[in-house]
Amino acid sequence: MIQIANLTKRFAGTAVLDGIDLDIEQGEIIVVIGPSGTGKSTLLRCLNFLEHPDAGQLTLGDLQVDVTRASRRDILAARRRTAFVFQNYALFANKTALENIAEGLIIVNRWPKDKAHARAREILERIGLADKADAYPASLSGGQQQRVGIGRAMAAQAEVILFDEPTSSLDPEWVEEVLGLMKQLAAERQTMLVVTHEMGFAQDVADRVVFMEGGRIVEQGPPAQLFQSPQDPRTRDFLRKVL
Ligand code: ADP
Ligand code: MG
Repeated sequence: MIQIANLTKRFAGTAVLDGIDLDIEQGEIIVVIGPSGTGKSTLLRCLNFLEHPDAGQLTLGDLQVDVTRASRRDILAARRRTAFVFQNYALFANKTALENIAEGLIIVNRWPKDKAHARAREILERIGLADKADAYPASLSGGQQQRVGIGRAMAAQAEVILFDEPTSSLDPEWVEEVLGLMKQLAAERQTMLVVTHEMGFAQDVADRVVFMEGGRIVEQGPPAQLFQSPQDPRTRDFLRKVL
């Protein structure tokens, strides 16, 4: 359903993504791991055109794009097919939880306000925050803010939700509730591409773990295989440090 072919991104002449090939099936949960500075965020950001890739082909559902020729319309179409969950939540501080979830539906999908708010209320139920509809982000815990961030991504009904270290900014006490919501989505077979250092989540939830280093995919496989019998010395070295 999602195909990434030869995705390349350079910053100041240095290839930060060096020809990434990755296919993702509908309903698949992929966890991306690897040292910092290795291009994991850039990979996610290129799929959403938060960064413009320098080369590659992307297939996102019924959309096919040669990134070097991507039109404004292609970029908007790619954004509609990929929803992003940020490490720092990236909520609108001056909007309530309900408005944060409804905003994309109103602006991007051009839904009438009433319909978008009704949908946002359903999402608030699903993420366990029905009683926080009118709360502003500053009055919510980090865990609640990130659940709103995930709710906003759920509302978009994208082909894939891209999570960039969704629990890395959280105080430890909130990590489990956010991972719990992500597990709920995984159980519903929401297609997800998750960058995280939470190896327990990767073990329990991922269909496939992808190890990246230096802008390349070094090794990938089911979690049991990748964690218990990594083939590449770079994977072994990384896992020795984090497990
Ligand atoms: P990761 O998420 O794996 O830690 P990133 O994708 O954030 O890695 O970054 C990969 C490399 O690209 C790093 O060396 C980083 O400094 C560089 N980089 C990321 N974004 C930019 C940018 N906007 N301009 C220049 N260099 C960048
Ligand atoms: Mg990153």
